[in-house]
This record gives sequence, structure tokens and C-alpha cells, in this order.
Amino acid sequence: MARIETPKRIRGTQDIFGDEQRRFARVLEAFETVRRLYCFQRVDIPVFESTAVFARSLGETTDVVSKEMYTFEDRGGDSLTLRPEFTAGIARAYLTEGWQQYAPLKLATAGPVFRYERPQKGRFRQFHQIDAEVIGAAEPAADVELLVLADQLLRELGIQDGVTLQLNTLGDAETRDAWRGALVTHFGRNAGDLSDDSKARLERNPLRILDSKDPKDRPIADAAPGIDAYLTSEAGAFFENVTKGLDAAGVAWTRNDRLVRGLDYYRHTAFEFVTDRLGAQGTVLAGGRYDGLIGSLGGPETPGVGWAAGVERLAMLLAEPEIERIEAVVIPMGDAAEARALGILADLRRAGIATDMAFRGNMKRRMAKADASGARFAVILGESELAKGVASVKALGSGAQSEVAFADLVGALQAS
Ligand code: ATP
Ligand code: MG
Repeated sequence: MARIETPKRIRGTQDIFGDEQRRFARVLEAFETVRRLYCFQRVDIPVFESTAVFARSLGETTDVVSKEMYTFEDRGGDSLTLRPEFTAGIARAYLTEGWQQYAPLKLATAGPVFRYERPQKGRFRQFHQIDAEVIGAAEPAADVELLVLADQLLRELGIQDGVTLQLNTLGDAETRDAWRGALVTHFGRNAGDLSDDSKARLERNPLRILDSKDPKDRPIADAAPGIDAYLTSEAGAFFENVTKGLDAAGVAWTRNDRLVRGLDYYRHTAFEFVTDRLGAQGTVLAGGRYDGLIGSLGGPETPGVGWAAGVERLAMLLAEPEIERIEAVVIPMGDAAEARALGILADLRRAGIATDMAFRGNMKRRMAKADASGARFAVILGESELAKGVASVKALGSGAQSEVAFADLVGALQAS
């Protein structure tokens, strides 16, 4: 018979298990905690959308749309794309579901996103984001609230010390147009020395040259004019309000006037939380204001601001996760005890006591399993216990052991 080949995991995808899974869950739990504290509503949106949702709102010239999307035709002939990020889908939902009536709307979501990129440490093709957005608020207070939320998330995870908030403004439309013109002139003058990628960006997306990582581009990007000389007074005042708000809330930040975001729709605030602990994949959380986005989807001009963070990158920064603690391990010896143990297990679990059963190997091996689980108690059921209608409850910390009647087990474990 021909040998059947085992299917392979798709490159850039992950099977998240063990310690890795515990870290991952910890990030999602912390996000859920702060989301509630900041009164952001949880929302869930589809994993795929019409390709136009991303193409229009992110812009055809962006890396994500031009190179990274998983786009396919479905059986009905429609062009669909697996979401490469959340903002565009949320903006689409805001328009199609009539959420305008709730504006300003504070939303939070989490889940898998998909980008066709070269997999490496901290970079996957299916990865996971947590995402927070405020739609329908033009006030800098919304930007501040999102940044303070992000900061609190890092504190909640205990990783705030290794991560820096870098902040910039991209100004309003007028500012951005003027600055873009100055950048095109500067980069045009130095075009011969730019990397090939940046030569292509010169026409399509000159702002992106500023944050190029190519060593060829760096001196030219570093010498490029900053935005400050082009800021309108409104745009300058907006930025000042954001920085004052951060100072008032006690959130540390540094100005990085080379920081731009890849997507066309960004205005005013742009930011990244960056660490040097993850090599080239050092941006853990990033976002900004996207006042042009909903208009580009054909909706009424609607301001918005938000961020997304890579769950995997945050998880990689966490200290060794604790194993999930359980309360008790039931150890039945013999068939009759095993049958009785099923009822006891069900009672304990229904009472909210996390309980496992050790049913393999000799007594020594089962006790070792109970010890390794970190449980507080072993509930031992042998023939003599069964005959008396009791279980021997052993406190695994102290070694103290006592007999407890079946009917009193739940109470005894809950009390101690
Ligand atoms: P990068 O510069 O690393 O490619 P990006 O600017 O493309 O990041 P965003 O679109 O801002 O990233 O996405 C927000 C966050 O999602 C990033 O800060 C990062 O933590 C995470 N992220 C982005 N791409 C990946 C990926 N391929 N694998 C894992 N995490 C990712
Ligand atoms: Mg990217």
C-alpha cells in the first residue's frame, strides 16, 4: 500500500499550545480587562470581506494591499479577501449596520488576521491582533484615551518597562499635502541613492521612505524635512492637546518625527509602542487617527482613531506564565472506586472546583501526577475508603491527610 503523506502545517501559521498558549491567553485576558475598564464595547466582525473594503480603505499603494493580501474568488465569482487588519472591516460595519446612531463609538475586537509575508520570528501569515477604535470622535481626547488604554494594557501585562511609546503627528490634509511635496522634492533629488523599494515608493507613497529600514535609505530619510515646519496652527494645536493629555495621564512618550504609518488614511496622531527585545519585529502596538477612511469607503466624512497590537509579539514579551492551577486531583484505585469517582468529579466540578482525575499507573505515579499539576488536594479513593463511604483528602502542600465523608467533600474543599 502506498504510504500516505502526513499533511503539513501551512507556512506562517501556528499551532499554539502549552506555555505559548498560556501567554497568548494572558494577553487576551488583559485586553478584556482593560477594555471593560475603559468602557470599550466588544465587537466581532467577519474574517473575510469584499476585496474592495481593504483595497479602498487601505489604499492600493500600501504594502498590505499590493503584496500581502490573501485574495480569492469564491464559488459565486466574488473577489473576497481574508482580513489583513480590523479597521477597514469595522468601518464597513459602521456604515452598513447603521452604527452612526451610536457615535462616538468605542469598540474593541480581537482575532486572527492574515498577511502574505515572509515568516520569521514575530512575523506570521496568520497572526492575531487585539484592536481598539473610537469612531465618530474628532477630539484629541479620543486619541489620548486610546493611548492611555494601550499603556495600561502593557502595565497589566507587566511589560511597560521594556516598551516605549513613540509619537508623531501627520497633520491635517493641508499639512500633509505640503509636507508630502517637500518630501518628494527631497527624495527626488536623492533618488539615485535610494533603494529600489524606495524608488518605487517615491511616486506612490513617499512618506513611507521615512521609516524605511534599508541602510541605503537611512541617511537620506534622516536628512528629510520634518513635518513641524509644515504644520497648520490647527494641526499643531491638536498635537499639543494629545501630548498634554498624555502628560496629564502620566503616560511617557517620545517624539519620533520619522514615524509614519503605512496606510494612506492616517491624519494627525500616529504612534507605535516599540521594544528592542524582539529584533526587527520590535513594534508591538501601532495606530493613529484615520479621519479620511470612512469617506474613502463612500460614507459621510467621519473621524476615527484606533490601534492594533500583535498578540504574538506581546505574548513573547511576557515572563514565564504560570500553569493553570487546579484545586484537586481525584485518585481512584480499582474499578468500583473509578465508578464512584465519576460522581465525585461531577459534584466537585459543578460546585466550581477545578478538578482532574489520575487514573493511570500505580499509586506512586498517580500521586506524582497530582503533585505536578499544582493541585492543592489529592482525593484518594481506595477499597477501604469505599467501604467506609469516605475519601482520603491529602493536602499536597503540608502532606496532612484526613478522611472526609462523600457528602461533605464539596464543603470541605471549598472551606479550605
Ligand atoms: P511591521 O512593520 O512589523 O510589518 P505593520 O506596520 O505592518 O508592522 P500594523 O499593520 O500596524 O503592522 O499591525 C499592528 C501590529 O500587528 C504590529 O505592530 C505587530 O505587532 C503586529 N503584526 C503586524 N504584522 C504581523 C505579522 N506578520 N505577524 C505577527 N504580528 C504582526
Ligand atoms: Mg507589515
